[in-house]
Amino acid sequence: MYRIAVLPGDGIGVEIVPEAIKALKAVGEKSGLEFTFTEALIGGAAYDATGHPLPTETLDLCRQSDAILLGAIGGPKWDELPVHLRPEVGSLLPLRKELALFANLRPVMLFPNLLHASTLKREVLEGVDILVVRELTGGLYFGEKSREKLADGGEKATDILSYTTHEIERIVRLAYDAARKRRKQLCSVDKANVIETSRLWRETVTKIATDYPDVETTHMYVDNCSMQLIRNPRQFDVIVTENMFGDILTDEASMLSGSIGMLASASIGGEVGLYEPSHGSAPDIAGQNKANPLATILSAALMLRYSFDREQEAQMIEKAVQMLLDDGYRTPDLVEAGTKVLGTVETGDMVAGNIARL
Ligand code: NAD
Repeated sequence: MYRIAVLPGDGIGVEIVPEAIKALKAVGEKSGLEFTFTEALIGGAAYDATGHPLPTETLDLCRQSDAILLGAIGGPKWDELPVHLRPEVGSLLPLRKELALFANLRPVMLFPNLLHASTLKREVLEGVDILVVRELTGGLYFGEKSREKLADGGEKATDILSYTTHEIERIVRLAYDAARKRRKQLCSVDKANVIETSRLWRETVTKIATDYPDVETTHMYVDNCSMQLIRNPRQFDVIVTENMFGDILTDEASMLSGSIGMLASASIGGEVGLYEPSHGSAPDIAGQNKANPLATILSAALMLRYSFDREQEAQMIEKAVQMLLDDGYRTPDLVEAGTKVLGTVETGDMVAGNIARL
């Protein structure tokens, strides 16, 4: 029996999470695994109901669960709140920190029949298979923030960027271990020509590399990496990088797979794993049955793989998604000539149906 905490959140979060639950239930029926789903509030929805974007009950539920399925948080309604109550800063960041989820894994998977959906050329994309390992609980997003008034009438804003050797070591080792199970290439991305934390990052990677002689290690500056991801993405196997660089590079990498609505993620490192799509709450399409639920459904597959060690069941979900795409169905973000448009709910129904047919 696996206990899953369900945190739909805001915007399209409430639309995509139920579709991932359908997929997990279908897997349960097929494989005999049992799941319980307990829902709790997070983000703007939690702020509206309780006055805080991460209520204690939500955190307690997460701690008592075997895994967490999250939708997305945030939206214009809560943008003007004091910063500590804003959904992003007040819920997601502390949730990651409290649960010690220091590693965010974002596999950039290319479904062959989505090659046309990307803005990049087919010949650039064929064969792309990247795992981005992003540090998730340190760096600029967690550093001290301040503002001060200046004599000239303006203001000075400061965000502190710091990393310790320990924080770098644990994420880099996790990335090397992942590379060992793949094509044994690790590219560490930094900005060591300018930033001191990046210099410590690079020195630390260089030291750890001696423990992994079977893995080929390269270093790349983040500006170059953002260019190489578009120029020749096939060169990458595992990319490991710090929090903000990883945030930006993974949004860029999502376009290799055709849509940000396809990019799943797993946050691990603590006692309980957190699974969520890489995108946000997409207020522009919320409530219209237009959101692509596949990133969330594929995140449920990552949950089966990483938290429950159920590779076969994880692959059931991935195969069911492949079948849907093979049958020519697409949500509006991916639709192109010759394909059939499906809404969020219908996509979830089809994936669950495909799992039953496997
Ligand atoms: P976003 O990822 O929500 O949306 C960017 C664009 O991608 C939009 O055009 C949106 O319609 C589209 N998109 C995103 N997910 C999609 C899906 N599943 N299917 C189809 N199209 C999809 O980013 P944003 O607009 O910069 O941010 C909106 C809100 O989400 C903000 O409040 C932001 O802070 C928050 N946010 C939350 C998370 C999270 O919960 N992890 C991550 C990023 C942004």
